[in-house]
Amino acid sequence: MRREGTWNGGPGTPRRGPADQATVRRSNLALVLRHLREHGARSRSAVAAETGLNKTTVTSLASELLARGLIKETGPQHAGAVGRPGLALTLDGSGVGALGLEVNVDYIAAFATDLAGRVLLDWRISFNAMNSTPERSLDELARAIKQAVDELALLGVRVAGITVAVPGLIDTTTGTVDVAPNLGWYGVPVANVLERADVSRDVPVTIDNDANLAALAEFTSGVAAGTPDLVYLTGEVGIGGGIIAGGRLLGGADGFAGEVGHVPVDPSGDRCGCGRIGCWETKVGLAVLVRMVTPDNAYGTHDGVVRDPEERLAEIEARQAAGDPHVSEAVAEVGRWLGRGAATLVNLFNPRVIVLGGYFARLADQLIPVAQAELERWGVAGSIARCSFVASDFGFCAASRGAAGIVVERVLSDPTTVDVRASVMPSSESTEGRADPVSHRVKPPR
Ligand SMILES: [Zn+2]
Repeated sequence: MRREGTWNGGPGTPRRGPADQATVRRSNLALVLRHLREHGARSRSAVAAETGLNKTTVTSLASELLARGLIKETGPQHAGAVGRPGLALTLDGSGVGALGLEVNVDYIAAFATDLAGRVLLDWRISFNAMNSTPERSLDELARAIKQAVDELALLGVRVAGITVAVPGLIDTTTGTVDVAPNLGWYGVPVANVLERADVSRDVPVTIDNDANLAALAEFTSGVAAGTPDLVYLTGEVGIGGGIIAGGRLLGGADGFAGEVGHVPVDPSGDRCGCGRIGCWETKVGLAVLVRMVTPDNAYGTHDGVVRDPEERLAEIEARQAAGDPHVSEAVAEVGRWLGRGAATLVNLFNPRVIVLGGYFARLADQLIPVAQAELERWGVAGSIARCSFVASDFGFCAASRGAAGIVVERVLSDPTTVDVRASVMPSSESTEGRADPVSHRVKPPR
């Protein structure tokens, strides 16, 4: 049984201004919305009694939440022995979508849920960002956003916000990617470009770090959900880390904490995408494994063929199944470096769990035993501070899932971000008549 973590102010959580009337109103709307989300359907009187708000205020707040399409009325509830039964309030939000995307070296992923967490879309397209200019990559991202927004519209869902995950250092206040070495992006104003392209149709777009978003997804709903001290590793061409310490995401002074892939581990090693020598990701990134096992199809070759990471892994597994001894040796080598680097994280942050994402999860059965042994060898606290590797079950969508989660959190924190036009969308009572939500669809390379 999974526990659920809570969001204690992740990236993008709005800061509160002075407590003016509008702020108090927003805060009370958020209080009622969260109360219904956490406790289920209840009468206005019950909400008033349980939140400490007076009944007139709750009635007014409920009217506004109804108009914004965030809650709905449901069957009559008996308020008590005296008085007539009234309609109960319950969370709706089925017409309000949260859209998350991820741009990575070899794909763009999209993931969306409604406010209740129902998955509305989950897909990935192969895209070679490594061999594309930032302009070309942003064009492709804009196309993906437009397609996702259109698909959600067909489901009767209006998008309340869009967050894009990028593997790099992000200035979240301006939506600019400062550095994303594996994408070759330096000072790219992603949010501005997307807003100018008007792909989001006036929906706010925010940009955030992929590993941090993935860590939040794991913490709230993943295999180790609710573990207050948790490290997530992205397991892609680049290795990013999202660090949850004491139930909070560790941001650092500039929000750049967790760049574990660029911790130097081998002064005589290979050159990294960031330009330095011997970074951890030059030992454990997917590009390294691919180069060791299938050098003929290594990353960075300009053959024009775009391969999804799942395709590359399938090829590696096929070679292993065919008896190629180099594959097991290469995976074990990655496992050793994975454990050695993770020991540094354990010595620094004392996590209880290290969640392996991306390709690490796919090869977890082979990687974890080797990495765990190496971790115990290099971790100073040894068995006293027990830390285990676990494989994520979010595949390559952890970051886009976390990005959608950020949007949901933003709506719950400030319901006024969804305007009253949402009320024109079909309510959840008509859900049965809609197209089925798309699930786990991977599009073929184009
Ligand atoms: Zn590096």
